[in-house]
Amino acid sequence: MGYLLPKAKLHQFLLALMAEGSFVAPVNRKADNVVVYEELTDSRDLERLDLSINPQFSHKKFFMPAYEELFTYDMQTQQLTDRKMVPRRRILFGLRLCDLNAVKIQDALFLGKQYADDHYKKARDHLVLVGWYCNKAPSPYCFCGSMELTHYYDVMLRDLSEKDPTRDLIYIDVNSPTGILLMTTIVEKLRHRGIALKEHHEQLPPIMTKKKLVTRDIRKHFDNPLWTKTANEKCLSCERCTTMCPTCMCYDVYDSTEQDLRHGTRIRTWDSCHSKEFTRVAGGHIFRPARDARFKHRIYHKLTYYPEVFGTPMCTGCGRCIEHCPTTIDFVEIINTIEKQKTQGNHK
Ligand code: SF4
Ligand code: SF4
Repeated sequence: MGYLLPKAKLHQFLLALMAEGSFVAPVNRKADNVVVYEELTDSRDLERLDLSINPQFSHKKFFMPAYEELFTYDMQTQQLTDRKMVPRRRILFGLRLCDLNAVKIQDALFLGKQYADDHYKKARDHLVLVGWYCNKAPSPYCFCGSMELTHYYDVMLRDLSEKDPTRDLIYIDVNSPTGILLMTTIVEKLRHRGIALKEHHEQLPPIMTKKKLVTRDIRKHFDNPLWTKTANEKCLSCERCTTMCPTCMCYDVYDSTEQDLRHGTRIRTWDSCHSKEFTRVAGGHIFRPARDARFKHRIYHKLTYYPEVFGTPMCTGCGRCIEHCPTTIDFVEIINTIEKQKTQGNHK
């Protein structure tokens, strides 16, 4: 099911959305001209809305915070007290299909039976996903066309005028019971303001990207020396890629104990497989001390280990890790080069 909204009424539509809960959207920070997801609290914030590019940082912090207090403990009474989260409906607006599929990837792990995570679930239960459809790839680094993305959203908006100037309309695709509920409210609100949304349905076209990953089957390339060469020559282990990636979900857990040594708080923070400390275990052993092993692990986790368990890659082709790597490491180019060497029978 879906609706058509006159494009000139998009602002009113967004104002109605803003009133439905905490509202997160891509905005330009102005001070440094960087587009980020931010919680907007004032209608004037909509003046900074920027839907022209994919935000530099992903949306994951809005349901998997970089720092999170899980519970407090009292060792004397052996009591654990869960950190109470105040349930609050949160609308994540403006997510591209890649970022929506990143939510799907996190859901598969944290909402699944095997590794269900209560804290994640509590935050996720209150999220409403309202996407913004790419009529064309917003960056030359995008390669989502190689990643078999699915329609994982509650509501999706597509600007029809970008492809056909005679259609000055926004198509609103509704894709879930949560989306139906939200849109029923919005349609009613807009009707009271004299704006009628017409019921309509049409297919969303596939998103084409110029950049392509030629294969995801990289098991046979594990020992290719290009991994080691690239990592040792260029990777700084700076963790920028994992911080920006919408699907990277590794974390660390530690206890912050108070001076009385009886009370404390268990804390979860983001971690990164690029860090040497990430695989340190009791006794001090580090499983991946070498930089190239860590670099390769990130890519193999995305394209081999995660798909072996969950059936889909743990990468959506958003391109952030490539665009923002300080030494311009491009893992897609590495894989494409290795494949090309193979087809040319050159394994140097
Ligand atoms: S952003 Fe680039 S240099 Fe930094 S850890 Fe990732 S791959 Fe290495
Ligand atoms: S690995 Fe890179 S391209 Fe893939 S989802 Fe993460 S940031 Fe995006």
